[in-house]
Amino acid sequence: MTELNPKSKQLDFSGVPGSIILTVALPVLVLFLYLLSNDDYHLVQVSLDFEAVKNIVKNQIIDNWRDCFFNYNCWIAYCSWFFGLAVMDLIIPGKWMQGVQLRDGSKLWYLINGKELSLALITVLLGRIYYIGDFNLPELAFLYENILPLIVTTWEFSIILATFCYIGSFIPLIGKNGKGTKERILAVGGNSGNPMFDWFIGRELNPRVGYWDIKLFCELRPGMLLWFLLNIAYIQKQYLKLGYVTNSLLMVNIFQFIYIFDGVLNEEGCLTMIDITTDGFGFMLAFGDLCWVPMTYSLQARYLSLMEFNLPLWAVVMITVIMLSGFWIFKSANNQKSYFRQGKLPNMKCIQTESGTKLLVDGWWGLAQHINYFGDILIALSWCLTTGFNTPLTYFYVSYFACLLLDRQKRDEAKCSKKYGKYWKQYTEQVPWKIIPYVY
Ligand code: NDP
Repeated sequence: MTELNPKSKQLDFSGVPGSIILTVALPVLVLFLYLLSNDDYHLVQVSLDFEAVKNIVKNQIIDNWRDCFFNYNCWIAYCSWFFGLAVMDLIIPGKWMQGVQLRDGSKLWYLINGKELSLALITVLLGRIYYIGDFNLPELAFLYENILPLIVTTWEFSIILATFCYIGSFIPLIGKNGKGTKERILAVGGNSGNPMFDWFIGRELNPRVGYWDIKLFCELRPGMLLWFLLNIAYIQKQYLKLGYVTNSLLMVNIFQFIYIFDGVLNEEGCLTMIDITTDGFGFMLAFGDLCWVPMTYSLQARYLSLMEFNLPLWAVVMITVIMLSGFWIFKSANNQKSYFRQGKLPNMKCIQTESGTKLLVDGWWGLAQHINYFGDILIALSWCLTTGFNTPLTYFYVSYFACLLLDRQKRDEAKCSKKYGKYWKQYTEQVPWKIIPYVY
């Protein structure tokens, strides 16, 4: 083992057993959420109708296994979507930006063209509606009618992509890295030597084909934009069924539209996210980006499209206030850190560390160590609240997301305390709250 790629000492998610359990459990959970919220049956309150769920499993999965697990049309559609976006990602002009410094001293270049790509996608969508002359696009109907095989297709696709990246991580680079060798840079946590764990967590830090960065692409394009299209498909379905769209479905769509395009449009901000700077790209991220995000984040919209549920005005106002407050905290905290790191906020109080990096102890970052996570949790809560109190099922997102951010905060704390040592301790003494001021 060389100095560039030390063997992973600490294995996240309880190591090999955890990686096996999660590889099986996460896809099963996505399927389970589908079983409780689909055209044939949806959960009301907590009274689960086992018979109805059993029938769906029998009719849609067991008796229809070939169409469910090897769906030719879904595979063609998904490959066209994924590789079509990849080609657009490579040819649509944008600006070039460097990522953070890697362990070999080099920095990768990224083509930032999210604005141009989003504009192209929305133009095509509006053009199609204009061309058809009605809000009845066959491609959206295809999405709606094939949610189950699409869940399976994106899951299978993630397995293949993670395997491709895992095998690729053993092939020496064509050019030389920053240290003058042909070694690929592996993720600190993905080089355990156990194939199952490394495949799951991601062995290589930044798998690439040419300058096409697979991790950043998956993080922002096929999954996030499929989530947007699924949401629109749910609106179309309800519009065709009821002749109008309920205010609850409209709200969750507007809120999530803002969130999705904020991510896609501000992709340079992603270059400093833990996923990009620290995590390897394996099954966990591939599945998370390609299957989990579009299929579970759109759960509220799917659930609302199945019924006629309108919120009273006071609830609309209250939920909007929660969403806007969350978005304000999330955006301004992330921007503040980003501007500060770019040297644009020189007068803010900070701790100068030995590594040359400064830790902010002022503004949002003086209130809590991860105040941006608090904003994100409020946003998640507002999406769930649009579904009223019809069932706890639609609150799955905020519960899962709070756990995810809690885990991230713990992992980040371990990373920062190792990286900054006594300076991190000094920071936590000055800013003791981790996510929510005066609560946690
Ligand atoms: P942060 O943006 O909080 O970044 C943490 C890093 O910032 C640390 O590792 C450290 O990096 C640096 N840092 C920590 N404290 C300070 C400080 N006081 N001053 C300056 N720099 C500091 O975390 P994430 O990358 O996890 O999240 C980014 C955003 O993405 C969040 O808003 C989060 O909610 C959101 N998110 C959304 C997800 C989704 O599925 N919707 C999933 C995950 C995240 P360094 O080593 O450079 O010092």
